[in-house]
Amino acid sequence: MIYLRPHHLLCTQGYSGKGYSEGFVSHMDEVVDALRNQPGTKITLTFSTDTLCSCCPHKEGEDLCDTQEKVKRFDQKVVDYFGLEEKEYSYQELIREIDAKMTEEMLADICEGCSWFPVSACRKNICKK
Ligand code: SF4
Ligand code: SF4
Repeated sequence: MIYLRPHHLLCTQGYSGKGYSEGFVSHMDEVVDALRNQPGTKITLTFSTDTLCSCCPHKEGEDLCDTQEKVKRFDQKVVDYFGLEEKEYSYQELIREIDAKMTEEMLADICEGCSWFPVSACRKNICKK
């Protein structure tokens, strides 16, 4: 089972092969490939560190990232905007619903402070209508 924290529903859409370390990127490649290319892939939404955090050099412990305040803020905003719960979802159905509602303003609000925001494909991939 793939566990995802709320804001990773967005990052997995903008991801294009860059990340925090070699190990992180190769693991992220595998997970993102399953999410994007295997129809019906299920995820369990978790309000904590997730499958992607498990290979990240910034993970300091269970439910602890070295930019904790920031990533918790990203998560909370995604939960509030889209009414999400800690439960199982079909990844592709869920991101279809999220992307249909997402505006450029909402994404800028959610991702405020993320260093990938100006350089990533997140805006293009998530706000495409
Ligand atoms: S800008 Fe940052 S937080 Fe927002 S979706 Fe992209 S990588 Fe994730
Ligand atoms: S540990 Fe922190 S920086 Fe790393 S993937 Fe998780 S939330 Fe992102």
